[in-house]
Amino acid sequence: MQHRFLTRRNAPALLIAALALTASSLGLHPASADPVERTVSGASEPVASVLPQPVRRHKLPRACRSGLVALTFDDGPSKSVTPGLVKILLKRKVPATFFMVGSRIHSAPQTARLVQRSGFTIGNHTYTHAQLTRLSDSGVRRQLRSTRREMREHKITPSDLMRPPYGDISKRVRRDIRGLGLVPVLWTIDSRDWAGGTPGQIADRVLRGLRRHQSNIVLQHDGVNNSPNSVAAVPRIVKEARKRGFCFTHIGPRGGPALPQSATPKPPEPPKPATPAPTPTPLPISFLSLKN
Ligand SMILES: [Zn+2]
Repeated sequence: MQHRFLTRRNAPALLIAALALTASSLGLHPASADPVERTVSGASEPVASVLPQPVRRHKLPRACRSGLVALTFDDGPSKSVTPGLVKILLKRKVPATFFMVGSRIHSAPQTARLVQRSGFTIGNHTYTHAQLTRLSDSGVRRQLRSTRREMREHKITPSDLMRPPYGDISKRVRRDIRGLGLVPVLWTIDSRDWAGGTPGQIADRVLRGLRRHQSNIVLQHDGVNNSPNSVAAVPRIVKEARKRGFCFTHIGPRGGPALPQSATPKPPEPPKPATPAPTPTPLPISFLSLKN
């Protein structure tokens, strides 16, 4: 009978409560389930801090005719889940962005380094998975700085991206984040992997959320209880999205899906003798250049 509570109105409260439970079961800092003045949205509403922009078709390679998809994975690194995920992504040449929790890097520095070595973009997800709007300005800064310090101690060079746990952000917190030179990144598609579901169900939720010619940012987790199922959903998400004409990319420095390098304007080249046009590949090799 739980479904009767899942109205649009109270979805944010449920999201926060469920995430808090998940986080506490993982030993992360438990957050209050009190949704008062939370700006987090329910799963059905886009909450990207950079709202999806229509992608100009002519700027994208033909293989990306439907738009871009940025996969993001939160709450890791996890010794048991993250390496398998990295393998799946590398095998399929899929860029992705990992928002890591500082205390988890402390427990699994080698796994964090594996993510970095494999060329993925790494962002800051606070030190204890804290609900930032409940902290003072100095508390917010402490969370972010200590995570950055933890990364540096383990020779990890993070991007300037950060994701507030639970998508919980306010004007004040945003100012604190920006003050440290960081860019908050939310999402447009919540896989709801934390709430359960088989790999097939999780893949369906993501695929249903894809919007043509928009910048899709997918939220998944490599550090919650149901993460093995979420990771197992990735091959289908990738295969089906590519079939529909979407390309995968990482989150760029401005907080939205980065244009593939081959799609950025190049200086004009001197004329060459006519050669047959190359056959478009599903994923240009330049997509593998993941650094911001
Ligand atoms: Zn999280």
